[in-house]
Amino acid sequence: MSTQPRVISFHYTLWNKSGEVLDQSEKGTPLVFLEGSGQIIEGLEEALGAMKVGQKQKVEVPAKRAYGERDQELMYKVPVEQFPEKSLKPGDMFQSNDESDHSVYTVVAVTPTHVEIDGNHPLAGEDLTFEVEIAEIRAASPQELSHGHAHGAHGHDH
Ligand code: ZN
Repeated sequence: MSTQPRVISFHYTLWNKSGEVLDQSEKGTPLVFLEGSGQIIEGLEEALGAMKVGQKQKVEVPAKRAYGERDQELMYKVPVEQFPEKSLKPGDMFQSNDESDHSVYTVVAVTPTHVEIDGNHPLAGEDLTFEVEIAEIRAASPQELSHGHAHGAHGHDH
């Protein structure tokens, strides 16, 4: 890796272990990230940092270097009263309103008295396979370095 953080744009397709496509970049719209900013998972950033523009390759990222292993302690049973105006069903996702916790929770089950929720990332515990192609590598701008994230092709877009 170079000493100055760079901004890398890449196209990707993401599969889980059973070969299902989970996500991919839109045609003509690569994903852009600033090195060292934690914008993308560790195992993928390491592989991309060693590649050249135009290079295409498969990258296997084990769960612990992707979204982490599943943590049983992030499974909660919450009394239904805590979800006043909601009609929840399994598979629903919501973000915590708590000041100190912005985790996303997935509803696992709903009983007459409790809602079971899971605070694990939906891809926790999954070994991931990416196919990536580098679209562009450039030096980060001073503004990007001070913001700690990459800006799009058309300047400041957030
Ligand atoms: Zn910014």
